[in-house]
Amino acid sequence: MKINVSEIKRSHGLSQRLRLEDWGSVAELELTAPLVVDLKLTNVGSRILVEGNLQTRVRVACSRCAGDCDEWLDVRVDEQFLPQDSPELPRGEDLDFEQLSLFTYENDVIEIDEVIRQNLVASLPCRPLCAEACKGLCARCGANLNEKACECEAEPRLDPRWGPLAELQDRAQSGTV
Ligand SMILES: [Zn+2]
Ligand SMILES: [Zn+2]
Repeated sequence: MKINVSEIKRSHGLSQRLRLEDWGSVAELELTAPLVVDLKLTNVGSRILVEGNLQTRVRVACSRCAGDCDEWLDVRVDEQFLPQDSPELPRGEDLDFEQLSLFTYENDVIEIDEVIRQNLVASLPCRPLCAEACKGLCARCGANLNEKACECEAEPRLDPRWGPLAELQDRAQSGTV
């Protein structure tokens, strides 16, 4: 989505609001609710400050059972745009602008999609869970233990010499070690 900032570029302190609610699409992400954008673009001198909020829901894979889980995201945005030809821009062959947390724009037009994508991706949970009590997959047979109990527990196929280790692992999993 392109936003023309020529109006607010006229004078320091001018700002404009970007509000929308849209199903849209964000690269890499599967949205399961409309994306709600509420951003304010402000001329802060040589830069355009973009701040506000993004809200949506995304589908991710549960970190225990790999099943679908929907996560609500509510992201605070605070980014800065510099004109492509700004003398303030660090120069160099392999500068990573994403790391510097700086964006550039050309011809008074700000491309907001990348800001939205980066902010949503950065706020994805590291270990999403479909439910707090998700039982995950059986490490031996791969059964989804939320759906059925497998029989691995009842008939351990382990070499008895591994017994102490398995016991240790069980205790580690139940959090007593
Ligand atoms: Zn799960
Ligand atoms: Zn099993």
